[in-house]
Amino acid sequence: MDQCVFCKIIKGEIPSSKVYEDEKVVAFNDINPEAPVHVLIVPKIHVQSILELDEAGYNIIAHVFKVASNIAKNLKLDEKGFRIVNNIGEDGGQTVPHIHFHLLGGRSLQWPPG
Ligand code: 5GP
Ligand code: ZN
Repeated sequence: MDQCVFCKIIKGEIPSSKVYEDEKVVAFNDINPEAPVHVLIVPKIHVQSILELDEAGYNIIAHVFKVASNIAKNLKLDEKGFRIVNNIGEDGGQTVPHIHFHLLGGRSLQWPPG
């Protein structure tokens, strides 16, 4: 079966600019940044979205938010703020079918999203 692009990045088969990695998640810079800081935080399990998580999966998502907080502090985004985005499915604008969280910052972000 063909692997998704994020599984290939997790396995090192596609290069990425990593900012953090542990046994549960990897975080790397988005190839097409929408803000001065645009990091993707990606659980290492291949699950399409929050709709498919079991209890262990929800614990990994809690870990994602801990990692996001640490990355935001390291990149000095904690003073002015930032945004964490999780797109789900077609209407949510999800283009990669492997659960991931966008950490966006470094500029004033608009609301509501388009
Ligand atoms: P989504 O639209 O699914 O929420 O977000 C997918 C994100 O993955 C997009 O922001 C896109 O730029 C990013 N992306 C897609 N392919 C690659 C890749 O090969 N490398 C990196 N670093 N980012 C990617
Ligand atoms: Zn995958």
